Amino acid sequence: MMQYSKKYDLAVIGSGPGGYVAAIKASQKGLKVALIESGLLGGSCLNVGCIPTKALLSNAAVLQKIKKASEFGIETGPVTFDFSKMKKRKDGVIEKIRKSLEGLILSNGIEILRGKAEFLDPRIIKISGQENLVIHAEKTIIASGSIPLDIPAFACDHKKIFNSSSLLELEKLPSSIAIIGGGYIGCEFASLYAELGVKVTILEALGSIVSLQGKSVSDALTRAFIKKGITIKTGVMVEGIVPKDNQVVIKLKGQEEMTADIALVSVGRKVVSAELGLEKAGVLVSERGSIPVNEYMETNVPGIYAIGDVTGKVMLAHVASHQGLVAAARITGENAKMHYNAVPAVIFTSPEIACVGMTEEEAESKGYPVSIGKFPFQALGKSIASGDVEGYAQIISNKKTGQILGAEIVGYDASALIAELALAISNELTVDCVIDTIHAHPTTAEAWLEAALLANDTPIHMPPKMKKSV
Ligand SMILES: Cc1cc2nc3c(=O)[nH]c(=O)nc-3n(C[C@H](O)[C@H](O)[C@H](O)COP(=O)(O)OP(=O)(O)OC[C@H]3O[C@@H](n4cnc5c(N)ncnc54)[C@H](O)[C@@H]3O)c2cc1C
Repeated sequence: MMQYSKKYDLAVIGSGPGGYVAAIKASQKGLKVALIESGLLGGSCLNVGCIPTKALLSNAAVLQKIKKASEFGIETGPVTFDFSKMKKRKDGVIEKIRKSLEGLILSNGIEILRGKAEFLDPRIIKISGQENLVIHAEKTIIASGSIPLDIPAFACDHKKIFNSSSLLELEKLPSSIAIIGGGYIGCEFASLYAELGVKVTILEALGSIVSLQGKSVSDALTRAFIKKGITIKTGVMVEGIVPKDNQVVIKLKGQEEMTADIALVSVGRKVVSAELGLEKAGVLVSERGSIPVNEYMETNVPGIYAIGDVTGKVMLAHVASHQGLVAAARITGENAKMHYNAVPAVIFTSPEIACVGMTEEEAESKGYPVSIGKFPFQALGKSIASGDVEGYAQIISNKKTGQILGAEIVGYDASALIAELALAISNELTVDCVIDTIHAHPTTAEAWLEAALLANDTPIHMPPKMKKSV
């Protein structure tokens, strides 16, 4: 029997949105919980992901509003900004949330153990770092997350060649940036930098940006980005990036090389599992290092669970949190399991993009008879009143049964509006349920009502002859 100094009902490794949510839920159920963290509380999401990017994007949104002020009869004079102050605000936001998160965790009676966790066997975990101890945990949830994928050919020096984490530390704006990878992270940075006046080029190996979100979303974002002056090169293979003088030179396969002041490499994320001692616990990992789990978030070892990015399922904060709730529920004897059919995904570009459920292509490839209801914000009173007419709301439904299969929305506040359709899809509702729901007027949420009416071919706020041409 191995020696240990403390004993817990549950150890949670990692305090990101997966780990801390699981820890709180388990502690509410009366378990004695240790939350082990080797870095900063809150994980990638709070420190180098969701929150810092959105804090910076809020600065850009304010700037854009001020630039449009004269359309609303407000004269402001010349507008300037200080990027270092924007960064300082972002750092302040993170710190404030981190402090309240720590208070929240402690107020739930959870013990925070600061150090790196490593299994010595399935029940014994060694912690080394700020605290050094060996603990016994009856159950463990692994929530160790992910880090930016660094590729040797695009080695980040964090001075001219950045990954998504180090770019957040930049104090001074460059005049140009090349973004390698047109996924959602690359596109959010592209949107931010373009709105702050930086010349942005996106280099994407696939045929389109944000291709996972389907063709109509990708086309809409491409059009919006081109309008903002962003250059998008798709189907290009970046072979190398080298710093030269005050710039970076980007070598492209079969094409002329290009230069920019700095480059962002955002080509994917790598799961964190290599140094957890998983072999000593007997936990299996995939070729890419992710930890396979079933719908209850159980690994192959009884008593050891994995949640969040490290499972390699859907790398989003709210999925990690939900998986955390499921794992904690399972551990405390509740009946809960994961479903992935109604996961909302938001891209916080300008315009915002949000999707849930199936894309049109996916629904068709699965053999559903598909009905599309697509309503443009241009035709909505609230959008016209507030001057935010870019984009549309689209519902993808089963033509025969009316069941909603998917939804996407491009435009102002898409991030908040998608919740209605996530609720509809997770409860297997039909377009008639949306039609029967009274939507407040004037609101952007009325776009869903109109999209549902369009799916049934009965639009109110669109002339019949227009409905096919949106
Ligand atoms: C730039 C960017 C923007 C993003 N924006 C969004 C967004 O808007 N919305 C969204 O839903 N998602 C977003 N994401 C993704 C989101 O951040 C992740 O999906 C989420 O953080 C995953 O949560 P997690 O709990 O699995 O792991 P993480 O948040 O990665 O946390 C894991 C924690 O485990 C700790 N850890 C690792 N190994 C050990 C060990 N051995 N011992 C102790 N501690 C350990 C780490 O230090 C870390 O704190 C973004 C990501 C990035 C990079």
